[in-house]
Amino acid sequence: MNRKQRIMLIRIIIAALLMVILPQFQVSGALRFALFMLPYLIVGYDILLKAVKGILRGQVFDECFLMAVATVGAIALALYERSGDYTEAIAVMLFYQIGELFQSYAVGKSRKNITQLMDIRPDYANIEKDGKLEKVDPDDVSVGTVIIVQPGEKVPIDGIVVSGESSLNTSALTGESMPRSIGEGSEIISGSINMTGVLKIRTTKEFGESTVSKILDLVENASSRKSKSEDFISRFARIYTPAVCLGALLLAVIPPLISLLLGNAAGWENWIYRALTFLVISCPCALVISIPLSFFAGIGGASNAGVLVKGSNYLETLSKTQIVVFDKTGTLTKGVFEVNGIHHGTVSDEKILEYAALAESASSHPIAKSLQKAYGGPIDRKRVSDIREISGGGITAIIDGHSIACGNDKLMHMVNVSPIPCHSTGTIIHVALDGKYAGHIVISDVVKPHSAEAIKELKKAGIAKVAMFTGDARSVADKIASDLGIDTVYSELLPADKVEKTEELLRTKPKKAMLAFVGDGINDAPVLGRADIGIAMGAMGSDAAIEAADVVLMDDDPLKVAKAIRISRKCLRIVYQNIVFAIGIKLLCLLLGALGIANMWLAIFADVGVMVIAVLNAIRALFVKNL
Ligand code: ADP
Ligand code: MG
Repeated sequence: MNRKQRIMLIRIIIAALLMVILPQFQVSGALRFALFMLPYLIVGYDILLKAVKGILRGQVFDECFLMAVATVGAIALALYERSGDYTEAIAVMLFYQIGELFQSYAVGKSRKNITQLMDIRPDYANIEKDGKLEKVDPDDVSVGTVIIVQPGEKVPIDGIVVSGESSLNTSALTGESMPRSIGEGSEIISGSINMTGVLKIRTTKEFGESTVSKILDLVENASSRKSKSEDFISRFARIYTPAVCLGALLLAVIPPLISLLLGNAAGWENWIYRALTFLVISCPCALVISIPLSFFAGIGGASNAGVLVKGSNYLETLSKTQIVVFDKTGTLTKGVFEVNGIHHGTVSDEKILEYAALAESASSHPIAKSLQKAYGGPIDRKRVSDIREISGGGITAIIDGHSIACGNDKLMHMVNVSPIPCHSTGTIIHVALDGKYAGHIVISDVVKPHSAEAIKELKKAGIAKVAMFTGDARSVADKIASDLGIDTVYSELLPADKVEKTEELLRTKPKKAMLAFVGDGINDAPVLGRADIGIAMGAMGSDAAIEAADVVLMDDDPLKVAKAIRISRKCLRIVYQNIVFAIGIKLLCLLLGALGIANMWLAIFADVGVMVIAVLNAIRALFVKNL
């Protein structure tokens, strides 16, 4: 509980005690009025102030207004009738405030949960020392330092490029989806993502003043990405509140006038009281509170399960997912390749592996990491220059003055070398040395332990179609797909082909069925952005992936995709339950109030009761362990 909430709690307790004690004293008249105003004002002064401010600003119809009119009206009636019964007004205010406190506590708690989890990935800066990269806290980098940003990494600090060429994804900052080409001398802003080349950047700002803080804000405000259901509620409230105010006014005026016309007594007190009760009942708190809270709880529950959802709109989309497309490497497979053999070498096997590892030294592709690991030796980055990563192809670089190309068939054709085909199954990494074929490395990846189960779970959850995209060779792709039980495979795709295939799937699917793409962001970040919902591998995935995705799986477990869908469905179920329940009870109470069956006590109990039940129901969305 924060300070504000503690003060509120104290106010509530004092007012409640006074409300119980005061009726024990036999006082009447002005003294009684003054005494009873004490707890009323203690618990409700801020509501009254807000109501007055709202009226002055012309924004009349809000909850504070409803509460203020209802309670002041009740007090006025008590004065007029000389009944001295002010308890009702105090109770209405008191319960309203209890509800508000409960709400702010519940919302604050889940908000904190979410933001904490969103900040899990630390940002670092690379600094080159003796040919080796060193990761440092960006806060410790002073202005003017040269930092290195590799493909797939987020630029940690604003600066100017001193060497290297690349394209830059700035969509997180500007919303611009076209990559920006940059080279020596270009200004570069932190938070953008380096896509293709290695960049050396001289920083021009400190981390604290860099644009990246804007990105952190963006993530923290995830909760402001409203879902359709939430939009519905705020639109509903805008029409609803004025409507009930008008209703209350009519209720107070019309029946007495009719009664007068018919020659009977007007009975003003009775109808005004009913109108006031009507106002208390009409307060839409339960809806206004419980819907966002359900989403909060859903997002919080998901993050406890290792699934970060960046906004409630994504939770809503996720619940409607009917098509799931997986990327292969790093998503369904571990992305940890083992070297099975080196064939047709024109130089020694060790030399081929060394060249490959050096060429891959700046790549964050799983293949790159695996080759470096297989090589095992120290990697002196000073020997390597002019590194270019060709997405979905491989790497070209200059090593010790030799030009090296290292990648698949497509890359070999690009550099005009004809590769010798390999007869072993596996991913083949061809190496060309100074424009001549120098042999290939056969590597193979293993599927993640949960991949097959993940596909099965999705089908069990009623997902209509599960597909796989890969840039890898057809033979490898088909084998994995049949092992895992995947319906449709698209292989040998360049990153651009993946986007095109996604658009094709989007075009041909039924309109209401949502398409989710699950990837690690390596060569598929644009697809993550293009799909109805992009799900990224968080632990292994690049910053680009985490930025582009709508949902991030923290532990890279594909089984979590089905879980995320189930979590979202549960959350949406709760949202609909709350909408129906709250509106239903509200309408019933309004009717009872208008008929004079419900008094103000019942009204406030119904209101706070519905709200507490709705909030408790919303909090159910947090519990997702056994889904
Ligand atoms: P996937 O779609 O399975 O995730 P990618 O699109 O990342 O695979 O890569 C497709 C293919 O491109 C790889 O199988 C490999 O042949 C080649 N490739 C991509 N990046 C590299 C790299 N850094 N080094 C060598 N080969 C690469
Ligand atoms: Mg990939």
